[in-house]
Amino acid sequence: TNVDDWTRSDAYSNSFLIGKDDVLTQIEKSNVAQGLPDISVTPAQGKFLKLLVQTTGAKRVLEVGTLGGHSTIWMARGLPKDGEIVTLEISKEYADVAEANFKVAGVADKIKTIVGPAIDTMSTLDPFFDFVFIDADKPSNLAYFTEAKRLVRKGGVIIVDNMVQYGRTADLNYSDIKVEGARTVLKALKGDKDVDATVMGTVGEKGYDGFLYAVRN
Ligand code: SAM
Repeated sequence: TNVDDWTRSDAYSNSFLIGKDDVLTQIEKSNVAQGLPDISVTPAQGKFLKLLVQTTGAKRVLEVGTLGGHSTIWMARGLPKDGEIVTLEISKEYADVAEANFKVAGVADKIKTIVGPAIDTMSTLDPFFDFVFIDADKPSNLAYFTEAKRLVRKGGVIIVDNMVQYGRTADLNYSDIKVEGARTVLKALKGDKDVDATVMGTVGEKGYDGFLYAVRN
């Protein structure tokens, strides 16, 4: 199998379960036109995040790494009326694009975007969040995870994207800063009594990767 097969697979199941989404289709097009990298979650992953937010009953969500706000919009769709998302982005340019997208998607009133290095901005936040999605610069994953443990309530969820990276995380003959970012989190979690966690592979139009799903003890 190759990425084309998995793209077809996503398209097939999405055609039944997600269907036409004019708002996000338009937003993705304009993000590409404005030069944003094509590294946001896929629609199937975005919908999965929305369903997780919904089924955990999360009201306060923290996102690390906004880009054009694709994942933010999906998660906002899973929130109750009085729910909110704080999303952190280092690039003012990307944050501006995301904020315009939040208006288009009709979720701007639920989202607060904070511009700056997430290490700094996370340290200014007060507990408690119900749900944290970490998807920024991968070498900082452990630092973000450690801060997320401070910020999430007991029973709250922390998700880290890009833990599998085409299987390279487990290929010990291979190394780059992204893969090391995933390995560092795994090593730190061995025996960590603060959370209970698993990595679940994801495969689809962006290839083969995986989410870490952790629950705060
Ligand atoms: N979550 C987004 C989505 O699925 O639509 C995609 C996020 S993209 C993979 C990673 C984002 O993290 C980029 O927009 C990048 O500018 C941002 N980023 C990189 N380093 C950062 C840092 N130190 N602090 C905050 N954001 C950072």
